Amino acid sequence: MSAPEGTTVHSGGNWAASAAHRLKRKRRVGALRKMATTLPMCVVDYMDTTKSPEEEDIAAAIRAVRGRLGDKVLILGHHYQRDGIVEHADYIGDSFMLSQKAADSEATTIVFCGVHFMAESADVLTHDKQAVLMPTLRAGCSMADMATLEEVERDWPTMLERGGWSDPALRADPSAPADANDAFLVPVTYMNSSAALKDFVGRHGGVVCTSSNARGVLEWAFERAGERGAVLFFPDQHLGRNTGLKMGLEEDRMPVWIPAMGASSGLDDARIVLWHGFCSVHKRFTAEQISEFRTRHPEGVVVVHPECPRATVEAADADGSTEYIKRFIDAQPPGSSIAVGTEINMVARMAKEHPDKHIECLDAEVCPCSTMYMIHPAYLLDVLERLEAGELPNQVVVPASVQEGALLALERMLSIIE
Ligand code: SF4
Repeated sequence: MSAPEGTTVHSGGNWAASAAHRLKRKRRVGALRKMATTLPMCVVDYMDTTKSPEEEDIAAAIRAVRGRLGDKVLILGHHYQRDGIVEHADYIGDSFMLSQKAADSEATTIVFCGVHFMAESADVLTHDKQAVLMPTLRAGCSMADMATLEEVERDWPTMLERGGWSDPALRADPSAPADANDAFLVPVTYMNSSAALKDFVGRHGGVVCTSSNARGVLEWAFERAGERGAVLFFPDQHLGRNTGLKMGLEEDRMPVWIPAMGASSGLDDARIVLWHGFCSVHKRFTAEQISEFRTRHPEGVVVVHPECPRATVEAADADGSTEYIKRFIDAQPPGSSIAVGTEINMVARMAKEHPDKHIECLDAEVCPCSTMYMIHPAYLLDVLERLEAGELPNQVVVPASVQEGALLALERMLSIIE
């Protein structure tokens, strides 16, 4: 079957069903504060688990083809995927957990329901006979796109020169611990980056991090930088800054590097150089939203993702990866009120799983990740059907020239236990 255009949950063909749906949605919005987005062409109610007949047909067809394919296929679903996708996933998790599941799997085909950089990492970590497919190759990540290999390779020599640092690639062992007086610039890339950048990082003695292990990875990198050295952290400035602050670094030792322009302040005393990237979803959460929630729920608690700005993280009660947020919510007692600063599909799912707790998204206007939302169940069905027919559609193949360095950077990450 052909895949539909991505984001409309309820098709426009059945007006009676649409009207009934709108009525039901109005009632729920009163009880569950504004977990809906108004888009020009449709209204998406993230709390509504009912399916249209078309959606039921697609889900049944996915279950059937999935059953026929058996253990040959592993379906991975990120926490930010819509319910119609995660109901078919063998594992649901963050990018770190899912990359480990891909690495441990014996399935011949992995269907990655997430964004492109995640599927690339899975391809690097799996063996050559395994294929990694995506329901649609258009699902990228705007943050990952904020640091390209061309930009980093162009700015790298300037950074080294302005900071008075050396390139770890020039050492006999680029990832060996440094001597006290060494001054290397060690690149650390967030998982949310292209395989080409991970390769750059691997070749220059650096390492990948996720929001689950950023602190342990930074400690590892500082040991390789030397006391006069520094870390280049990219693409997400907020995760780098928030982690550096937790490690006791002052903000003025973490200048922001604007591509092609240079640093926001001098590099003389810099310990972390933060690339000017950010997540457009998590940037929306603010300290003002937290104060507003606390006024309505004085006993409530707030948990946010560390991709949020510094002021938001500092105003929250806790911050961590999506896996951490899930555990945090699970641990709150019945009757708790919890505001969550992360992507709406995950927040709404947690609210449905915990009807004994009041869970709301910190941003009343709601913030879906538009690229995660491109993974529609019809695309998943299309890929599975074509796989059954002997095709390998939408395969993500990391070029051999990039595999080696990217694998090095990922394996360094997997070896670091926080
Ligand atoms: S939520 Fe942000 S970081 Fe995650 S995939 Fe979407 S744009 Fe990228």
